[in-house]
Amino acid sequence: MEVRLHNTLGREIQVFNPINKSEVGLYCCGPTVYNYAHIGNLRTYVFEDLLRRSLEYAGYSVNHVMNVTDVGHLTGDEDDGEDKMEKSARETGKTPEEVAAFYTEAFFTDIDRLNIVRPKTACVATKHIGEMIALIKKLEERGFTYTSGGNVYFDASKFERYGEMALLDRQKLRNGARIEIDTNKKNPRDFVLWFTKSKFENHIMQWDSPWGKGYPGWHIECSAMSIKYLGDQFDIHCGGIDHIPVHHTNEIAQSEAASGKKWVNYWVHGEFLLMDKQKMAKSAGNFLTLQTLIDKGYEALDYRFFCLGGHYRSQLVFNFDSLDAARNARLSLNQRVSELKSEAEPVAAGNLTGRALEIMDKFSKDILNDLNAPKALASMWALLKDQDIAASEKLGAVLEMDRVLGLQLDKVESDSPELTKEEMALINQREAARASKDWAKADEARDKLLSMGIIVKDTANGSQWKKRL
Ligand code: AMP
Ligand code: ZN
Repeated sequence: MEVRLHNTLGREIQVFNPINKSEVGLYCCGPTVYNYAHIGNLRTYVFEDLLRRSLEYAGYSVNHVMNVTDVGHLTGDEDDGEDKMEKSARETGKTPEEVAAFYTEAFFTDIDRLNIVRPKTACVATKHIGEMIALIKKLEERGFTYTSGGNVYFDASKFERYGEMALLDRQKLRNGARIEIDTNKKNPRDFVLWFTKSKFENHIMQWDSPWGKGYPGWHIECSAMSIKYLGDQFDIHCGGIDHIPVHHTNEIAQSEAASGKKWVNYWVHGEFLLMDKQKMAKSAGNFLTLQTLIDKGYEALDYRFFCLGGHYRSQLVFNFDSLDAARNARLSLNQRVSELKSEAEPVAAGNLTGRALEIMDKFSKDILNDLNAPKALASMWALLKDQDIAASEKLGAVLEMDRVLGLQLDKVESDSPELTKEEMALINQREAARASKDWAKADEARDKLLSMGIIVKDTANGSQWKKRL
């Protein structure tokens, strides 16, 4: 099946042609583990999951690599501010390693709850310092670096195509379009590859290097690790649109300067989640986590469903009314699937016929045409509402669609009850209490649920519940 993707290189939708027909190389910029991911970050990971699942649906095997940044990402993307990890460690009285371990686990818990398929390789920056040093050495040998104030910088003026993807105007920049902070830089676009001295001298995490004890810049991490796991030429690189002008621009410059070759063929960027018309950001103090939504009685998959309702290249405004609408739509979807399961056995995807096959084809065309999830969801509803399609065909088709949508329709039981938000909140509270071994609180929640007519049972696969008739 043909896949079409919007490529930021060229700003157009292009037919996807992988370098190697059988396996696609996909690199996604991962979290900086100094705090919880906010639901804006998670929107980006849901979009990347949709991309991966769509490629697999189209028949490709995907070598999906994601970094975990635990050093070098400063509070400003352009070498200003301080290391986010060390700042968080100082504020919480923990070591950077403890901070990283805690938030890495929290991140993967969120990913699992959203039914995002984990990357084949999740590579941690502090475990790849050797690869970063080797890459900086290569850049040095090729004449792309200079040392100033003790730090090693990439000299953007030496890389002819600098800023091409971001459509940066080099001339304007030289004339001082930007406020310069780091006086060691020859040019505002230059960036740090390796920090040794300057204002970051007291950094806790430091490693030996040919340039002295220090630590890597954030951009070099992604280049070094993606090249290690995917080679110096691979298919797709993803992230949020905020990474286009600095992080990805710098990644391209250093990777292509080192190899002398084009690095990545398709750059796919997701738009932002907005809160009350503002960008959701940790620094703006207006960020929500997945756990906040769960504490309010939503399920993680309600948020996934909400994300699928917007095209990944459009901004999406978050508010609780829209999340309620997503939750209700998902409840009625689960209800429909539950009824279908009690009526019939699913037809295998390859054996669909007639109208079900037509709708399935439309679904595939839309999702593989630059991941049009809103149109794909519309096809799913058209299928479920169609009076003339047999239950077995409907069920077969909707389960096939769910390979891409990832709404865990395979897990819907034929008699699973619908719960209200309050009931769901109690179940979530009970699970949280059990996880922290607060048995008294867990029992209290169970008794309350019982008084509401809900029987909770603990199984190897987590809690299951039944409504008393
Ligand atoms: P960070 O942990 O800050 O490096 O961000 C992780 C990912 O989330 C990156 O791909 C960012 O581009 C993306 N991101 C950050 N803020 C938002 C937002 N408000 N909406 C969607 N994606 C975001
Ligand atoms: Zn990156």
